[in-house]
Amino acid sequence: MIQVTTGGKVYNPVNEAIIAELRGIAGAEQVLTNREAMEPYSHDEVVGLRADPEIVVRVSSSEQVAAILRLAQRERIPVTPRGAGWGLSGGAVPVCGGIVLSLERMNRILEIDTENLMVTVEPGAITGDIHRAVEAHGLFYPPDPASLDSCTIGGNIAEGAGGPRAVKYGTTMHYVCGLEAVLPSGDIITCGGKLVKNVTGYNLLQLLIGSEGTLAVVTRIILRLVPLPREQVDLLATFDDFQAAADTVSAIIAARIVPTTIEFMERDSILAVERLLQRDLPHHDAAAHLLIQLDGNGREQVDADLDVVGQLCLDHGACDVLVARDRPTRDRLWEARRKIIEALTNASPINHMEDVVVPRSEIPRFLREIHQLADQVGVRLICFGHAGDGNVHVNALQDDLPAERWEALVPQLSEEIYRLTLSLGGTITGEHGIGCERRRYLPLALDAVQIELQRSIRDVFDPNHILNPNKIFP
Ligand SMILES: Cc1cc2nc3c(=O)[nH]c(=O)nc-3n(C[C@H](O)[C@H](O)[C@H](O)COP(=O)(O)OP(=O)(O)OC[C@H]3O[C@@H](n4cnc5c(N)ncnc54)[C@H](O)[C@@H]3O)c2cc1C
Repeated sequence: MIQVTTGGKVYNPVNEAIIAELRGIAGAEQVLTNREAMEPYSHDEVVGLRADPEIVVRVSSSEQVAAILRLAQRERIPVTPRGAGWGLSGGAVPVCGGIVLSLERMNRILEIDTENLMVTVEPGAITGDIHRAVEAHGLFYPPDPASLDSCTIGGNIAEGAGGPRAVKYGTTMHYVCGLEAVLPSGDIITCGGKLVKNVTGYNLLQLLIGSEGTLAVVTRIILRLVPLPREQVDLLATFDDFQAAADTVSAIIAARIVPTTIEFMERDSILAVERLLQRDLPHHDAAAHLLIQLDGNGREQVDADLDVVGQLCLDHGACDVLVARDRPTRDRLWEARRKIIEALTNASPINHMEDVVVPRSEIPRFLREIHQLADQVGVRLICFGHAGDGNVHVNALQDDLPAERWEALVPQLSEEIYRLTLSLGGTITGEHGIGCERRRYLPLALDAVQIELQRSIRDVFDPNHILNPNKIFP
């Protein structure tokens, strides 16, 4: 019998009797054992990270999840929960083999409650589908990861996902009011409900958000909604100097205007998108583009904010300010921002992405030092991200570096980038999570006391570490 040990735990392989039991729980057609059929479940969106599951089970109810976790507990088999596999930290990759527990079939939007402004969904619901469903009722679910048409709400909760609108509206954690979750023991718990206030005991609901599928499997979710803003306008400002763009962001905030988004793109990211689209983009040679969205209910208020923001951009040296009100023009302004990840992969299929956060005011210094680092090590480091909340995505491209040199360089680069981030008062991930990609670096960001405290929380939930082992902790 093959046994895998990790973190001192012993796991057993999935044998024929267990396969038969899993078929009995979920139905034979929802249990995959064929290598080819299981291939899509062996990776997420992290380039180059792969591990084969022993079996994939596509569940359709909380009771099935509970039965599988009880079985896995009894037999000591690792279980990796999975939404859409669009994660960027390796969280859904079954690095210890065992069972991949796919929530993709639990994708119903169960209820849109227009009286309480809440929506109840299953974890496999696609985030963009939730947006469209509630918007048809004049309601708004603001968190908007760029992956929203592919990723699931369960994955968003497990990662604490954010998106461009975080500047004004916050992230996933600010909208979850109720959760049903299955513990590694197989017990089903509910936390919260259709409640705006709730301080009954410890806040387990917020503990589960961002726990990366290591504490429980989320099976039902109640999200708070807000009224859909009636007016939206987008503005693209281009600058010859990144410092000027950053000063503009500070000036906008100081003017007491909170835009919905303030995104930035450096010149090299715009050039990569141009190469992908094979056409020129406006002001492609500018050092930085700021993409600012304003929203509200009254046209007059939005227009007044637009005048102030436009003027502040020009006062701070913007070369040009483009304004878009109608949907097609707004989509054109956003096209470059939405295509960046694809464009960077097109530029260099092997690449590595970091997701650091620094205080907003430190972004210019951070970028200067990142460019120096790129020159020192001879690799392209291209940045874009959320100027409004300090979340910078740093992308290293392999280009034509030999594989050996690249593989040695990536951990060195990550560590340098994290040390720089931390020295500026930042942290190592803002929205993509630790997963297995960043776990060895956790001690750079958290002290030993906190890591031990977090480990002991995990031990209380899951003493045998059957749920998503080898994630988060070094
Ligand atoms: C092109 C691109 C753009 C992106 N843009 C953004 C962005 O703007 N903002 C952002 O925050 N992220 C972004 N991401 C990252 C990613 O889309 C998010 O992390 C998303 O939340 C992952 O959802 P998923 O359904 O794909 O989860 P998966 O990748 O399947 O899983 C992610 C983690 O969640 C756990 N998990 C999944 N479902 C459950 C459940 N029901 N219960 C318990 N644990 C569960 C898994 O075990 C894993 O640890 C982007 C990714 C790509 C590829």
